[in-house]
Amino acid sequence: MKSYQIVLLKGDGIGPEIVTQAVKVLDRAAGRFGFTVSYDEALLGGCAIDAAGVPLPPETIEKCKAADSTLLGAVGGPKWDTVPGNLRPEAGLLGIRGALGLFANLRPARIFEQLREASPLKAEIIGDDLDIMVVRELTGGIYFGERGRRTVNGFEAAYDTEMYSVPEIERIARVAFRMAQKRGGRLCSVDKANVLESSRLWRATVERIGKEEYPDIELSNLYVDNCAMQLVRNPKQFDVIVTSNIFGDILSDEASMISGSIGMLASASLSEGKSGLYEPIHGSAPDIAGTGKANPLATILSAAMMLRYSLDEPQAAQAIEDAVSEVLKTARTPDIYTEGMRQVTCEEMGDLVCGLL
Ligand code: NAD
Repeated sequence: MKSYQIVLLKGDGIGPEIVTQAVKVLDRAAGRFGFTVSYDEALLGGCAIDAAGVPLPPETIEKCKAADSTLLGAVGGPKWDTVPGNLRPEAGLLGIRGALGLFANLRPARIFEQLREASPLKAEIIGDDLDIMVVRELTGGIYFGERGRRTVNGFEAAYDTEMYSVPEIERIARVAFRMAQKRGGRLCSVDKANVLESSRLWRATVERIGKEEYPDIELSNLYVDNCAMQLVRNPKQFDVIVTSNIFGDILSDEASMISGSIGMLASASLSEGKSGLYEPIHGSAPDIAGTGKANPLATILSAAMMLRYSLDEPQAAQAIEDAVSEVLKTARTPDIYTEGMRQVTCEEMGDLVCGLL
């Protein structure tokens, strides 16, 4: 029987509640599909600051490196808002991404049919369903480039640098092309090549990789401003989008909000190997922590992504996604509640998904 070792980074706020539900669902899926999962917990974020004085203790990195994959809840909260920047919970997030070499961030923006009314877009724009995957480069570009301050003409000035090397672009392009092969066969590369030199290299490199290695994929290019507009004008034209760190940060938030419900959105961050870090896109929701109101579905769907992309258990992943889709027909946590549905707690939602599995 196959056995997987997973590190749980429960984090802060609602993190522990939602990860507990995802673990329950993973165990149920394991039982049904004939594999076992063992878990090890490690500290990240505010809870790590409280226990170890830093948001990312070295042993957390070691545990994650040794595991098959990592499931993260969320980090942060008002308690740590006043600590210095490099010691904030969010610094732990950036640190773990760097330490694990997580260069590719996958953000599906999918509308479950049952939640169509939650989308801010009109029904005729969404159509029957919507399923976009945004692939964002995560460890390069302007967030990691040289930055600083200097005096220009007697005034204080600041700068940040956007830089990408050919190998950095090639590896994220390959992730996106492979993703398009598994999905609808279409990839849109997003840049600002009319202005930025780094974007011109990006575009040329993605086009070359497409021509040489993935001639089966239909590749298109869009400028980032146009892409932002097209996402709300005609989102159905997109299958997979690949873009740089900063553009992906913005576009993946825009794309995911088309689904209208932050508690439903999963994400994955992948390294060169098979392992990855899987987490909901929302934060630690300190306003509802401990009340039972948290929606665990984004974390449960993140666990499903883990099964698909890191653990080679696509049938278990599909079964979880189908169970989530099914449960939405009758039960809702308060954030996605509509009249006529049964309102359930975080724990009850986890139980219902397990029941359907
Ligand atoms: P948030 O995503 O935590 O919450 C925004 C709103 O959405 C809140 O009203 C919250 O109650 C609601 N919400 C979020 N997730 C929900 C869920 N699963 N179920 C039901 N409702 C949910 O964003 P915020 O309030 O801006 O940030 C709170 C803290 O989280 C901050 O400390 C922030 O830095 C941190 N944060 C962490 C991550 C992460 O760990 N990846 C991401 C974003 C924000």
